[in-house]
Amino acid sequence: MPVKGRIVVDDVFCKGCELCASVCPQKVIQMAPERITAKGYHPAELFKDGCTGCAVCAVICPEAAITVYREAPRARVAAEA
Ligand code: SF4
Ligand code: SF4
Repeated sequence: MPVKGRIVVDDVFCKGCELCASVCPQKVIQMAPERITAKGYHPAELFKDGCTGCAVCAVICPEAAITVYREAPRARVAAEA
């Protein structure tokens, strides 16, 4: 199964520059069309499934506005002897 991830964007810092959306290999980020931040920008958001938690978006963001969460692989339980 592919690794699942998600991002949380801090609207206080996001300036809607679209850099994160442009580099996301899964193309799952958009600028929220119906939300506007206090500074007047459409903030980035996940708009569909498919995020792998690769963190490319967080690395490129000039405002460090993105936090990435990645689903931890389920621990393997050894079979009882
Ligand atoms: S790169 Fe950062 S500042 Fe630019 S749109 Fe994405 S989250 Fe917002
Ligand atoms: S963590 Fe990777 S896949 Fe998920 S939104 Fe960011 S760039 Fe796209």
